[in-house]
Amino acid sequence: MATILDGKKLGQEIKTRLAGEIDLLKKVGVTPGLAVILVGQNPASRIYVKNKRKACEEVGVIGFDYDLPESSDQKDIVNLIKKLNADKNVHGILVQLPLPPPMDEKKILELIDAAKDVDGFHPTNMGKLLIGMPSLRPCTALGVMELIDSIDYEIAGRHAVVVGRSHIVGKPTALMLLERNATVTMCHSKTSNLPDVIRSADIIVAAIGKPRFIKGEWIKKGAIVIDVGINRTSDGKLVGDVDFEEASKRASAITPVPGGIGPMTIAMLLKNVVEAAKQCVSV
Ligand code: NDP
Repeated sequence: MATILDGKKLGQEIKTRLAGEIDLLKKVGVTPGLAVILVGQNPASRIYVKNKRKACEEVGVIGFDYDLPESSDQKDIVNLIKKLNADKNVHGILVQLPLPPPMDEKKILELIDAAKDVDGFHPTNMGKLLIGMPSLRPCTALGVMELIDSIDYEIAGRHAVVVGRSHIVGKPTALMLLERNATVTMCHSKTSNLPDVIRSADIIVAAIGKPRFIKGEWIKKGAIVIDVGINRTSDGKLVGDVDFEEASKRASAITPVPGGIGPMTIAMLLKNVVEAAKQCVSV
């Protein structure tokens, strides 16, 4: 049976370490602050934001909460971001996606000061990731790398297959695996023979958004399986993009859903907030 990559446990360990770092920052007069902007009533977004705010409280990050009505104008968000960019008590700014239409997400994210972009989605931070410069990096991809590293697995030279090419998960994860010298294949909805591509993978990262789409029989024996997907089935159960039951019989290590990448994403968000706050101490 596969080793379970327990993101809940590792995420908790990271949060405990961060709480210690935050205490030290407080001693030099800096309390990390995260502004979370939520627009509208999207139920999934409300749950994600609630979890992020709770995690801030747990480790000692000050949360600045902005819950705006669905009817908000893009101008309201633009003005709020400008105000937060200038606020010295705010080290991180997060706009919960998706934003209600017709708001222009790309334009709004671009307005965030790159030094406060703790989601790592700003074009400056994405560009730095592409060319291997230090930057605030997307949290889910960071969580994927931390979980693989937690089992002391040599990534270099392995064939990593990333299924999904979104800006927030698939692309940054592929770049980070490439940076660590994996041979990376990126797959998407137009990929031919996906099962065969996956059969050749030593590392599989699934970020598709389709319940149990990746079958156990596609997994090479001994592969590492990272399931980013979060899907609710008709009977209300949360499942990933991988058929966990079958895949765990073949994989050497696998993430559960829930309890895998989800808690790691939040831990990495807090890590980015602490990193952003540290920059204020060193300048
Ligand atoms: P997107 O919808 O932005 O991207 C999905 C990707 O999957 C696209 O690139 C799409 O291809 C690809 N895809 C769709 N169908 C197939 C298929 N049949 N075969 C191969 N590829 C396919 O999703 P996200 O990246 O935002 O999220 C993916 C999943 O991860 C979701 O379940 C989401 O809820 C979850 N998630 C979890 C997080 C966590 O913290 N655990 C954080 C963020 C996301 P194409 O580009 O061709 O359309």
